[in-house]
Amino acid sequence: MRVAIIGTGLAGLACARHFAQHGGMVTLFDKSRGYGGRMATRRGDGGVFDHGLPGFDPLASEIVDVLRDLPEWGPDWRKVGVPSMNALPRALGGEYDSHLETRINSVATGDALTLTDISGNRFEGFDRVAVAIPAPQAAELLAAHGARFEAVSGVTYAPDWTLMLSGVEGLPPAWDVCTPTSGPIGLAIREAGKPDRSAIPERWTVHAARQWSVNNLERDAGDVADDLCSAFEALTGLTTTDSTNKVAHRWRFSQPENPVKAPFLLSADRRLGACGDWCGSEREGGDARAAWISGAALAEAMC
Ligand SMILES: Cc1cc2nc3c(=O)[nH]c(=O)nc-3n(C[C@H](O)[C@H](O)[C@H](O)COP(=O)(O)OP(=O)(O)OC[C@H]3O[C@@H](n4cnc5c(N)ncnc54)[C@H](O)[C@@H]3O)c2cc1C
Repeated sequence: MRVAIIGTGLAGLACARHFAQHGGMVTLFDKSRGYGGRMATRRGDGGVFDHGLPGFDPLASEIVDVLRDLPEWGPDWRKVGVPSMNALPRALGGEYDSHLETRINSVATGDALTLTDISGNRFEGFDRVAVAIPAPQAAELLAAHGARFEAVSGVTYAPDWTLMLSGVEGLPPAWDVCTPTSGPIGLAIREAGKPDRSAIPERWTVHAARQWSVNNLERDAGDVADDLCSAFEALTGLTTTDSTNKVAHRWRFSQPENPVKAPFLLSADRRLGACGDWCGSEREGGDARAAWISGAALAEAMC
């Protein structure tokens, strides 16, 4: 069975793994340069930052077998990738035939399924296609495929402004992770405090509080960086030396607010399906664990 998976985040990788374990020949597609989606690591002048998913909830490792060997970190014993968060998706994704930097913009169904990317390149001959991308993008891709995929268009996401800070001066605070309950900052993480990163220079990843991100979503990234940096200095007592050391990243789609109440969406002939963190149940969904569960469950249903 030839399987195409669009999206190499946790949902797509879980789906790939499950198909491969059942004899599927998997080909991955992603618009980005690397694997992992929001399980992201950014490398820039300021160094390396895990600027997306900061770590896995300990509950996730009960479900996601590939997390079990990862070290634990922080006050709530999250699992983290080493030497960076995207090391795990890189290792998992590297096992499959992959087309990176390839944005798929249509799926055609016929005797076999065909994908087309934004440059007009065609990828033909698939028996199954799994769409494992965030809901707003999935809604566009699946609009032509009928009522079974309609639910995806109702999912909305919370944004997250994330500040990457290097070149800080002063004595680091006694903590590596802080979750203030008021002010612009929702979560501050000392990157050097994570396992196997102690040799790296002092660096911080600072996530804005959810409502602050909503209120400031359309502002200039430089102004947001200044505001979050001032709040960081007040919180930690550290000072930043140079404005080039602070970079703000706007995540428009951080986590789903209203996941669909289904583990995945599937066409009647079971050849085209969709999964992601936007799938869930009455009580679950909208996080990294849900993404993995959804991807594996979709593959199971399509096999
Ligand atoms: C800042 C931040 C903080 C977070 N904190 C937490 C947390 O504390 N706990 C938690 O559980 N979760 C958290 N999350 C959410 C978690 O990271 C996601 O739920 C999970 O990683 C989603 O996985 P996914 O596979 O569903 O989607 P994604 O990781 O978004 O993967 C989708 C992939 O599809 C690709 N793609 C999209 N469109 C196309 C296309 N047309 N063609 C080809 N490729 C395409 C993208 O490039 C991407 O690689 C956080 C996320 C962010 C950004």
